[in-house]
Amino acid sequence: GTIADTVGRGIEGVTQGVSGLFFEPVIRLGVTGLSRAGKTVFITSLVANLLDRGRMPGLEAARSGRIEAAFLQPQPDDTVPRFDFESHLAALTGPTPRWPESTRAVSELRLSLRVRPKGLLSGLQGPRTVHLDIVDYPGEWLLDLALLEQSYADWSRDALARAKTRPEAAGWRAALSAADPTAKLDEPAATALARAWTGYLAAARAAGYSDCTPGRFLLPGDLDGSPALTFAPLPPGDTPRGSLAREFARRYEAYKAQVVKPFFRAHFARIDRQVVLVDALGAIHAGPRALEDLRQALAGILGAFRPGRNAFLSALLGQKRVDRILFAATKADHLHHHQHDRLAQVMGALVADARRRADFAGAETQAMAIAALRATVEETRTVQGREVDLVRGTLLDTGKPAALHPGDLPADPAVLLSPARDGADRWLDGEFGVMRFAPAPLSLRPGDGPPHIRLDRAAEFLLGDKLR
Ligand code: GDP
Repeated sequence: GTIADTVGRGIEGVTQGVSGLFFEPVIRLGVTGLSRAGKTVFITSLVANLLDRGRMPGLEAARSGRIEAAFLQPQPDDTVPRFDFESHLAALTGPTPRWPESTRAVSELRLSLRVRPKGLLSGLQGPRTVHLDIVDYPGEWLLDLALLEQSYADWSRDALARAKTRPEAAGWRAALSAADPTAKLDEPAATALARAWTGYLAAARAAGYSDCTPGRFLLPGDLDGSPALTFAPLPPGDTPRGSLAREFARRYEAYKAQVVKPFFRAHFARIDRQVVLVDALGAIHAGPRALEDLRQALAGILGAFRPGRNAFLSALLGQKRVDRILFAATKADHLHHHQHDRLAQVMGALVADARRRADFAGAETQAMAIAALRATVEETRTVQGREVDLVRGTLLDTGKPAALHPGDLPADPAVLLSPARDGADRWLDGEFGVMRFAPAPLSLRPGDGPPHIRLDRAAEFLLGDKLR
């Protein structure tokens, strides 16, 4: 209660503020991508390699030895699940390495780096600590942003139009034709429709389609079975009071207000740097329709980084912006490095439209081909007088080694993305389909190359300037 107390508290507040600002900067790195894009493997490998520090020559602070220490710390957010780094690393590096469990919901991990400043300053200033808060979240959740601008009727119309022709939606169509939207709400009937819609979304995802909303239906977390996740699109028609149709429209609004918006508020709005991971190879292999669909889904995801378009998001973010965005095509270890440039170009082409339109409100962007965990080594063989580039790894199913040729990417990515492409031409039609490699046991033998592909360059783009 004395004046001295007040002054004392004031000074303490100031010094905390100053150290927060100048000596312990925090970078919130968002990691997203559609399911199976490679988020879990990316984060696990990034953290393992930063902790190790020896295998990241493309990260200037690591190469020059300025990272004096790297350590995991308790994260700042007490109610967000922690990214289970240790279990994931154990899966990847155990005696029989296996891929870790994939991302199902949002999670977070804090990695702190003690960094010596660069150049002249290093003599004057001691090392400082930079906190890297990694936030892992499903890209599907970003797709829901578009729902905020759509009424239930609009969303239903678009979603039903897509489901109309797809074979994956046969079960859904049967369920819909058996339902009566004007009938009085009956919870089992509502659940049956929601399940049929979820089943269709899952099948569509498995077939390579990306535009699967509502995003939480596929990754519901602890909302599974709640009313906010128990609805489905319905064709236009009467919506009498108390009817299924009326209730579904209400639940759709509840989903937006109580599921979608809180995620953007609590997580998305606080991100400084973002990496968007994309399984471009998988989509190319699945065929032109899947690739076009991925392009559209990416445009949807990227809409979140152009907040000017969305009233809710502009109001939420104010002046705060993500200032660097990396688009990374993952699993590049399926290709010989001769084709990596082509993959990076496909990645660039996939986001080119979105980039041109608004250039992400001034954010710096880059497209890259990476492999967070290299499961293969390269090999060139002469087959019938012709040199063939192969990659060799251990097959997951049989445990046997195999050297395979995935097929080729075109020299011009436009070939893949041109609207005229009708599915007659195939790319990556070699042995890509059987390339399910097990993670390679970590090897540090000279000549084997680093255990990742360009993960260090990705880190340099995302964090390098903050470690100077
Ligand atoms: P998430 O759903 O985005 O978290 O995806 P995961 O990180 O779980 O990755 C999905 C699957 O992609 C893994 O189980 C692996 O089979 C594969 N994968 C991910 N990253 C790599 C990589 O760098 N190289 C290879 N060969 N496969 C990868």
